[in-house]
Amino acid sequence: MKSDAKIFVAGHRGMVGSAIVRKLEQAGYRNLVLKTSSELDLRNQSAVAAFFEQEQPEYVFLAAARVGGIIANSTRKAEFIYDNLMIQTNVIHEAWKNGVQRLLFLGSTCIYPKFAPQPIRETDLLTSPLEPSNDAYAIAKIAGIVQCRTYNQQYGTRFLAAMPNNLYGPGDNYDLTGSHVLPALLRKFHEAKQSGSPNVTVWGTGTPLREFMHVDDLADASLFLMLLDDGCYEELLMYSDAPALINVGSGQEISIANLARMVQQVVGFEGELVFDTDKPDGTPRKLADSSRLHALGWKHRIELEDGVRDAYRWFVEQYVS
Ligand code: GDP
Repeated sequence: MKSDAKIFVAGHRGMVGSAIVRKLEQAGYRNLVLKTSSELDLRNQSAVAAFFEQEQPEYVFLAAARVGGIIANSTRKAEFIYDNLMIQTNVIHEAWKNGVQRLLFLGSTCIYPKFAPQPIRETDLLTSPLEPSNDAYAIAKIAGIVQCRTYNQQYGTRFLAAMPNNLYGPGDNYDLTGSHVLPALLRKFHEAKQSGSPNVTVWGTGTPLREFMHVDDLADASLFLMLLDDGCYEELLMYSDAPALINVGSGQEISIANLARMVQQVVGFEGELVFDTDKPDGTPRKLADSSRLHALGWKHRIELEDGVRDAYRWFVEQYVS
């Protein structure tokens, strides 16, 4: 990917897309095509077709998606399946029609079965039932992976799907009804500290295990994958057991209860934790096996506690004020 290559980052206002833009700019890429959702509704087939025909991007990072935490995913399933299917189908299809050289499709490890063996390998996809709370999102993302694979097989495209674990960082969603656990806890602890509240409620039992990664590490991995030499890249696309699919994990696994204690310390809240077991736990464990990515020479850099401090700094500077 030359420094003047035309690169479309779909979803550049989101946490993942904006981190990819920061990474590309740091790396000297200047020819970025960026459209807000009001300028280009990616769910609109004819608008996406016209955009690709006019802009002719050479590389695409597909980070546009409807995402959310466990409650948003389970209560707004229709929006999750419709928006994600429409966005990715239009972008992947037009990327093929307009000769895009490489496309990176971003999803999440929610695509894997609820009781997948741990750590979860790419080959565990579709081997048993999904976690019901996010099955609509997962099925949409699985359709996108299959679209990448089948386009590669039938049309010779070079589209790769990368599945990160639970992400967090600058630009995260801090709306308590729609957010994921880490931003929710940062906000809850911060507000409890400000108001002098005696306790903070953590959803579920606190026992589920999750693997967290700072979004800047994902952006770094995304560029790394886009820049892989042809031989390694083709090998990823051609794997016979799980073609065009790669996990992007940090290996930093922690229980929700211990995560809550870490956030409590970072924020400096001195009250108690209360577990609300009427709220769902979701899948018990979701640790990705990232050995394929590690074998290529990539590893995360940001350790969880440092990353949580960074996210909290962003929350206080950009969100609260
Ligand atoms: P998941 O990884 O897809 O299950 O999504 P989440 O990040 O929403 O939730 C991860 C785990 O954190 C689940 O077990 C939640 O019940 C738990 N959790 C604890 N407190 C919260 C909270 O305030 N918000 C969210 N979203 N999850 C929480």
